[in-house]
Amino acid sequence: MIQVGINGYGTIGKRVADAVEAQPDMELVGVAKTRPNHEAETAVEKGYPLYYAVDEREHLFGEAGIEVAGPVEELVAASDVVVDACPSGIGEQNSAMYDEYDTPALYQGGEDADFVDASFNARSNFAEAEGADHVRVVSCNTTGLSRLLAPLQEAYGVEKARVTLVRRGGDPGQTGRGPINDILPNPVTLPSHHGPDVNTIFPDLNIDTLGMKVPATLMHTHSVNVQLEEVPSEDEVRDLLAAEDRLFLIPPAYDIDGAGKLKEFAMDRGRPRADIWENCIWEESISIEDDDLYLFQAIHQESDVVPENVDAIRAVLGEADAAESMARTDEAMGVGF
Ligand code: NAD
Repeated sequence: MIQVGINGYGTIGKRVADAVEAQPDMELVGVAKTRPNHEAETAVEKGYPLYYAVDEREHLFGEAGIEVAGPVEELVAASDVVVDACPSGIGEQNSAMYDEYDTPALYQGGEDADFVDASFNARSNFAEAEGADHVRVVSCNTTGLSRLLAPLQEAYGVEKARVTLVRRGGDPGQTGRGPINDILPNPVTLPSHHGPDVNTIFPDLNIDTLGMKVPATLMHTHSVNVQLEEVPSEDEVRDLLAAEDRLFLIPPAYDIDGAGKLKEFAMDRGRPRADIWENCIWEESISIEDDDLYLFQAIHQESDVVPENVDAIRAVLGEADAAESMARTDEAMGVGF
């Protein structure tokens, strides 16, 4: 059984913890937090050993009546792999601790690509993580783009991708985030960081990305244009994408016209936290004009990286190949509508 520790138990960390718990070949050693709150309370209720990340704050847990298992260093020492899901930049600060205990670590998309040995997307470059000490699971948007571009690249070759990302202003719980009533080119300069980030997965891909921010919390939406080297029919593209387990083609008959109905659909299907682990591609939007493919896809920022983290655990330890790992992860989590 692979022993997994999670350091940073917020939006991403708590989801990865549940996904690890669901895997037949993994055991959750515990989760680490800096302070007691409702998430700490829930972790304990779920039976996840809770470690404290900052020595000076240990007493806060006791005062809140929350039992702790020990300091984060003990969690790191007992784990075969640590998933660091701390806020951007903290992961890099934690990396010395992981090195000290000789524990390979996975980081999230908010960390700098330069300090890790490899950036990771299961469908695109699984094998590059094997044996690495520091691996970054790329951001929600880059995960969504990589999953889409990998099969297009393999089947037809990509001459150039042009993508406009309409980005949610914050997650539902991020009360301090704006904009409240605005639409921002963000950043106003080109490219947005997403294109260069996709290049950490596909170094030779020609891609331009533009970013916008809107006052929404539900999902991101991508307007995608991919110029292909070989031109398929629209039906061929639909069949290609439908064969990918982490791409969900929204059937026109479902009458899902936006992120709100997608979340409603996820709730109706009993998804935990209304999570949508798959890229959601509007089937009707798949269009070929000359050698250009166009489509719209929605990306659930809080959850699409979760199965990728689970795969990255097996990848760094060399425990499975991409196809085996993705199938195991998807089966255990229930990925695929
Ligand atoms: P979050 O703020 O929801 O959770 C981070 C957690 O880490 C919090 O519970 C915080 O208290 C805790 N923490 C802070 N410092 C710590 C420390 N030193 N040790 C242990 N725990 C500490 O953040 P998040 O949204 O889960 O983001 C985490 C990472 O995932 C970031 O790199 C982010 O860019 C990336 N990411 C976020 C999203 C998203 O939409 N939320 C999507 C993909 C990737």
